[in-house]
Amino acid sequence: MKTSPTTDLSRLCVHTATTKPWKIEEAAKNYARTGVSGISVWQDSLEGRNAGKTGRMLRECGLKIVSYVRGGFFPATEAGDRLKAIGDNRKMIDEAAELGAPLLVLVCGAVPGQSLELSRRQIEDGLAAVLPHAEKSDILLGIEPLHPMYADSRSAINTLKQANDTAERFESRHLGVVIDVYHLWWDPDLQEQIARCGQNGNLLAFHICDWKTPTEDFLLDRGLMGEGCIDIKQIRRWVESAGFHGFHEVEIFSQRYWEMDQKIFLDQIVEAYSRHV
Ligand code: ZN
Repeated sequence: MKTSPTTDLSRLCVHTATTKPWKIEEAAKNYARTGVSGISVWQDSLEGRNAGKTGRMLRECGLKIVSYVRGGFFPATEAGDRLKAIGDNRKMIDEAAELGAPLLVLVCGAVPGQSLELSRRQIEDGLAAVLPHAEKSDILLGIEPLHPMYADSRSAINTLKQANDTAERFESRHLGVVIDVYHLWWDPDLQEQIARCGQNGNLLAFHICDWKTPTEDFLLDRGLMGEGCIDIKQIRRWVESAGFHGFHEVEIFSQRYWEMDQKIFLDQIVEAYSRHV
């Protein structure tokens, strides 16, 4: 590896979706070998596995489980589907608890053809329905605002202000916000909203990657840190000024990187992290 021995990886976390071709066991061994300290577990990586046993395996590899990804998707045109989403989220809260993950990340959802206002009301109804279970299970729920290009079908919460407003309305220690540079870097109110998020005790997680020009695919063409136009160091300073000292979570969905040898890709992640974060 080219990284200098002084690089501090104690706050580097990688999402299993970042190295999607690897099974979680392979990801864990390789993350630990490379010096990565944390892992965020996507639900699909647990398929066919016992969450509790998998959590033990990850801790035995020396990894800290940072979050479980991703619940949410509350809005739906049919009441039955909204009810099903609530059930799915309660199940994910249980899985997070079994796994030993302190936080469940929420992509809140949206429905094409339904107004964003209605979707936002349904998101609040969904949060109200699952929050008591999260509190009882001592699992944090993190609202992740998504870039407006996803407002049609993935999230009606698109700015940090909206996420802050929603989290503050509930006044629960178990509901907060996830900041992902990919979704929020363009927002002129970002610094102010990050400060507000921290002041209210709602800043739960920090996701990093980069925005490429041109972005060739809306979902699967995220860049490695330093490869795009996001000033990650600046945003990192803002979240730290807001009192956040948790993990820096690398979350990259990229067809191009998934086609690579994942060991080489992981070394590139560590190298990019040491230079650009
Ligand atoms: Zn994210």
